[in-house]
Amino acid sequence: ANEKFDAIVVGAGPAGSAAAYTMAKAGLSVVLLERGEFPGAKNLFGGVLYRKQLEDVLPDQWHKAPVERHIVEQRIWLMGKDSAVTFSHRNEAYKEPYNCWTALRVKFDQWFAAQAEAAGALPIYETVATELITEGDRVVGVRTDREDGDLYADVVVIADGVNSLLGKQLGIHKEWQPDEVSLAVKEIIALPREKIQDRFNLEGDEGVTIEFMGETSLGMAGMGFLYTNKDTLSLGIGVMVNHLKKKKIKPYELLDHVKKHPMIRRLIEGGETKEYSGHLIPEGGWNSVPPLSGNGWCITGDAAQLVNFVHREGSNLAMTSGRMAGEAVIEAKKRGDFSRETLRLYDQKVADSFIRKDLVKYKGMHQILKEEDPELLFNRLPQAVNRAAYEMFLVDGVPKGEKQKKAIQYLKQAAGGTWNLLKMGVKGWRAM
Ligand code: FAD
Repeated sequence: ANEKFDAIVVGAGPAGSAAAYTMAKAGLSVVLLERGEFPGAKNLFGGVLYRKQLEDVLPDQWHKAPVERHIVEQRIWLMGKDSAVTFSHRNEAYKEPYNCWTALRVKFDQWFAAQAEAAGALPIYETVATELITEGDRVVGVRTDREDGDLYADVVVIADGVNSLLGKQLGIHKEWQPDEVSLAVKEIIALPREKIQDRFNLEGDEGVTIEFMGETSLGMAGMGFLYTNKDTLSLGIGVMVNHLKKKKIKPYELLDHVKKHPMIRRLIEGGETKEYSGHLIPEGGWNSVPPLSGNGWCITGDAAQLVNFVHREGSNLAMTSGRMAGEAVIEAKKRGDFSRETLRLYDQKVADSFIRKDLVKYKGMHQILKEEDPELLFNRLPQAVNRAAYEMFLVDGVPKGEKQKKAIQYLKQAAGGTWNLLKMGVKGWRAM
């Protein structure tokens, strides 16, 4: 206790391990603090991991990461009650170089943190950071739930995930509002490997992702996912917390509803649920991102709301922000100055990267989700699109011109008139 380090990283998720690895590799003395029994013990995501941002952190080791399947096909489904309008893209090019993989956090987080340890970071697990230790406006360390458990450092990298106790203590963000977070529930469903290969049209370790929205979220803003692992499937759905509260639907009821949809039911049939868990996803977008650094601290990943929910990217923003925070601390160490003046280098790196650019690009999406009726966006319109598709594909002797008119009529009705439909179209176009 009371030993002083160059940096303390709180949280051994993708953001924390990336930061710890980056700093330890540069020779800094680093503590990696994690409340779980081991990193990843209780962590949860969909989840798709992205190669590029992992490789940026670990250029030599990334290919040894314990992943499940490399994704060669991504499907997007717009759900009606017993139907779906689908879009997908499959490409052999996603194998060389890999684009992304499915992974399980229990295995991945443990491995990723082990890379930081191997680089010299000191792991302290089963330990909760209870508060930041401050002197004036400077953060100088972390109090833990261990006896004699105060740790001191020039910089604390906050990577404690969406609930970020430490972020709240700093006052840089308030308690997240129910319209800034989604609650996601997920099951891991065991299914024999051959069944997965057949049902999803896969060879070897190829994998498929499916994201679905529409009737499945029962009129709440949200998205579901079904991903293939080696011999399990990850099935889940996340919806905005404010909508969940309003509808008074329990998350497991929602997932049960999803499992009954004919498109999903057939894919998971015969599977055995191995795990069930829930987790929040930060979805406030750029407007919810706090200042990223201050005197003696940086904040990264989910703790800083760095998630691009439109593209279900979070782990990669976490890794990248963790790496960038690490790089800024390395520079601060060189200068011997750990004030905001130097650490804002981290803010600058994030601002210059895809992180800020992507989050700013989708700012309008968050606005739409706040302003528009979720019943319209996530129920009536998807149902109308499905009805219109049904009409167009049905060969029943009705002339195509009439069918087309009907199809357009369905969409107009759902939107509450031509004007509303056009307005929605323009808004959606702008937001994307
Ligand atoms: P976390 O992964 O949450 O890690 C935080 C760590 O800090 C944890 O290990 C926690 O135990 C520890 N901790 C917290 N508080 C303390 C404390 N006080 N003291 C000590 N330790 C502490 N992203 C993708 O890229 N692809 C996906 O497919 C995807 N799907 C998702 C599906 C779901 C259902 C959810 C919930 C999220 C999904 N995400 C996905 C988002 C992604 O999981 C997160 O963006 C990412 O994990 C953020 O990493 P992080 O390191 O910032 O936080």
